[in-house]
Amino acid sequence: MKGYGGRILFVDAGTGETRVETLGEELARAVLGGNGLAARLLLDHVPDGVDAFDPANAVVFAVGPVTDTTVPGNSRACVATKSPLTGIFCDSTFGGRWPATFKRTGFDAVVITGQSTEPVYVRVTEAGAELRPARELWGRSTRETVEAIAAAEGASADVIAIGPAGEHRVRFAALTTYWKNREGVAGRGGIGAVLGAKRVKAVCVAGARKTEVADGAALKALIEERREPLTTGTKALSTWGTSFLVKPINTLGGLGSFNLQREVFADALAISGEEMHAKYHDKDTTCLKCPVACGKQYEIRDGELRGIKAKMPEYETIFAFGSMLGNAHAGSLAKANDLCDLLGMDTISLGVTLAFVCEALERGWITEREIGVPFGWGNWEGMLRLVEMTARREGFGDRIAEGAWRLAESVHAEGTRLVYAVKGLELPAHSARALKGMSIGYATATRGGSHHDTRPTPQYAPGFDRTSTEGKPEFAVRSQHFTAVGDSLVVCRFTSERGYGLFVEEPYARMVRAITGWDVSVEELERAGERIVNLERCFNVREGVRRAADVLPWRVMHEPIPDGPSAGMHCPPAELGAMLDRYYDLRGWDADGVPTAARLGALGIG
Ligand code: SF4
Repeated sequence: MKGYGGRILFVDAGTGETRVETLGEELARAVLGGNGLAARLLLDHVPDGVDAFDPANAVVFAVGPVTDTTVPGNSRACVATKSPLTGIFCDSTFGGRWPATFKRTGFDAVVITGQSTEPVYVRVTEAGAELRPARELWGRSTRETVEAIAAAEGASADVIAIGPAGEHRVRFAALTTYWKNREGVAGRGGIGAVLGAKRVKAVCVAGARKTEVADGAALKALIEERREPLTTGTKALSTWGTSFLVKPINTLGGLGSFNLQREVFADALAISGEEMHAKYHDKDTTCLKCPVACGKQYEIRDGELRGIKAKMPEYETIFAFGSMLGNAHAGSLAKANDLCDLLGMDTISLGVTLAFVCEALERGWITEREIGVPFGWGNWEGMLRLVEMTARREGFGDRIAEGAWRLAESVHAEGTRLVYAVKGLELPAHSARALKGMSIGYATATRGGSHHDTRPTPQYAPGFDRTSTEGKPEFAVRSQHFTAVGDSLVVCRFTSERGYGLFVEEPYARMVRAITGWDVSVEELERAGERIVNLERCFNVREGVRRAADVLPWRVMHEPIPDGPSAGMHCPPAELGAMLDRYYDLRGWDADGVPTAARLGALGIG
């Protein structure tokens, strides 16, 4: 098969046993790779109802046909598991160099199950996998771990690691890889905690197999044709990184602040990409062979945190640690972000959980004494301390480590009304109230509160009516197919959206035809996206997800945005219900949100 290694590797972290299965053409063409392959493998190999920390749960790393080709943004991989935060399917993608190196092992996926008695790292090469001792690495940061293993394995090896948060089973623990100062973070859903429960500190990959492409000339022609739109479309990303979004989204009235009590932030300018770039930019960083270089390294040159060199906080992180906490201290955002990368935690989940803590404090539901450090709106020193306490489950950090939903349940009878989460996954920075496409998108996302199921990007475009529900279920369906296909090929969202199209369109079909040699149409790719969404939904239905779970945060459904350009917007239950009816209808699911046998049959899902 062109574009694939054609092999799936299974590793039992408990016994050290490994085996290899062939990835057949039928399955590859049906689910593409990456996200789709991981969903199929999790559905087949994780017993239903199993606890996320049970050895029987699996962590799947998967790449796709685009990985390690010449397509811009090709060094991207997907990692998936049953999430300890949500109890349902979760996947997260990441960049750097690790994904391309993994592809060079000749495996399209590695499935890690079991639980080791001692800390280990999994070493994957073209010959297979082995477990290596990692006792000395336990307790170390992600960067220290990556550097130590890379030093032992050689400069051509790449490593992705968990930090102390994963070891302590923080329910939103992440994984981080480093390459030439470019971090790749698989942030969402606590996948790092599942690896921690398995006592797998890291996954190291090394290989030299080349990805063969069916029609190199056709692929080259496509890339040439898309070069100009890609360059133009990614100009802001190349200049400022994702932080350029702060100003326009605040201007639109959709930048959640003070735990979503408002959706404008008076101090947005101070934490905008332009302002921080002017004050702190040090250098650009990029994933392997990507011309965009959306990563930025900052050097904090003022205030109490002067001298810190750290990655630019992404837009989502600026929202979570900035506006949501009423915090306009720009340097603290870079510091909190760096701590989260090093300790291995998702910045969105942690920031949104801390925002709940701020509001609970304000309401007198919890006291500063319980928290153990001075904290509240705008208190960035307390925020930084709580980041560290959470990673190691120290004091009140132990409760924050459970995520916003579980924490809120333990704090007050009405606590969950203040939580900005869907299906237990804290929401990112694209408003569930100010963008109707996100309202239905978040409610139906297979991961819960994720902006990588239904995309916000098209909804910010001039001419898109963000305020009406008209056509939004149709939009969400198409957008979800697009993200499923993109994460399965696997190609970076930024390069694909801006260079190749916001939906499954002809450039993607041309890309797949050129790489695989299959005579793939847009329609076939769209069906692959639908198949992948249904595989994930089947996984979730097996875990008990039904219509009752397809809801939005209480505040989104019951409290209109109080002021600003989007004042009055929210998504009341009746409005959401009408969109859900239409969405299920489009999907061929029953009224309770369960895929029908007829639809699954048509998609070839047995
Ligand atoms: S656009 Fe940014 S995240 Fe995507 S591959 Fe390029 S550098 Fe990496």
